[in-house]
Amino acid sequence: MERIAVFPGSFDPVTKGHESIIRRSVNLFDKLIIALGENSGKQSYFSLEERLGWLNELFAGEQKIEIARYDGLTVEFCRKKGAKYILRGLRTSADFEFERGIGQMNKMMVPDIETVFLLCEPEYASLSSSIVRDILRNGGDVNRFIPAGITLTRKFNH
Ligand code: ADP
Repeated sequence: MERIAVFPGSFDPVTKGHESIIRRSVNLFDKLIIALGENSGKQSYFSLEERLGWLNELFAGEQKIEIARYDGLTVEFCRKKGAKYILRGLRTSADFEFERGIGQMNKMMVPDIETVFLLCEPEYASLSSSIVRDILRNGGDVNRFIPAGITLTRKFNH
């Protein structure tokens, strides 16, 4: 059976931390679906089109990677895609506490889906999309934090 994993996130914007988790884990699975989740309660900084565009650009030509968007429960999306693994990155103990809650609830809802965690590379432990957004809002240079080849434009209406 194909080992399909879903890597869910908002990727607002995609960072080198996300890219690293994706590139390190791709060989663990037959297929990795990067799933851009649309959270109805959360207004994103970058548009869905921009976020999908960057992911598509970044992983174009990667046979095992698919980019998708979804709304609703991640476990439902996994079921639809035949995915038995949810991939998440861990930076800090705060991440762990947060992920433990979600992972255990997911496990209770769908016992045959396993959440798999990868520790982030030490140099990305403090890197988050929200910090990148803050730097950008304040006119700072975020290039070293985002994957090569991606250009972010500052928004003035956020
Ligand atoms: P979410 O809103 O679901 O947390 P994100 O796009 O912020 O979405 O993150 C998606 C996944 O990427 C999460 O598992 C998160 O822990 C992981 N991640 C985010 N930043 C990093 C990083 N710097 N290093 C490793 N993993 C990261």
